[in-house]
Amino acid sequence: ICSFGRRERPSHHASKTATPASRAREFPEKLHADGDKLFCTSCNVVLNHDRRSVIVDHFASKKHKLKEEAAQEDGGNKCQKTITSTLSLKNKTQAEKERMEICKAWVKTLAGANIPLSKNEHPLVREFLDSRVQNGGAIPGRTQLTETYLPEVYLEEKENLKLMLKRQEN
Ligand SMILES: [Zn+2]
Repeated sequence: ICSFGRRERPSHHASKTATPASRAREFPEKLHADGDKLFCTSCNVVLNHDRRSVIVDHFASKKHKLKEEAAQEDGGNKCQKTITSTLSLKNKTQAEKERMEICKAWVKTLAGANIPLSKNEHPLVREFLDSRVQNGGAIPGRTQLTETYLPEVYLEEKENLKLMLKRQEN
């Protein structure tokens, strides 16, 4: 007689021996166990784990549904949250737009190539930008690049990366 094997076998009386953890596994998205207590994740209330009907009744209750909807809305808003650009292209003149473009492209180039933004101040670099690069004279000093354009480029790149990863998932 192998009592170990018998214990492993699923039993019709499983509900009698339900534990908070086993109930949480039954409804992994709705319940979680903490110590010897079973919690409804949305409502953060303790539920009686002995009887399945109590749990199902709770899920059907108005109170639970409201909490669950609220939680879902929170999650949805988080996903939809987009970056609010400090350098929004709205209400900008063509010249301003072009200056922003060249500044962002320059910051992106320096950062991407691991070139310190301080090199922007180097006389030879400055001369090159001013004389050889279209709109290059519009590129400000290092401080303004760091304070104004670097965070913007960083956010943009982060969003691009997120989009790229999302596309790979799908
Ligand atoms: Zn609940």
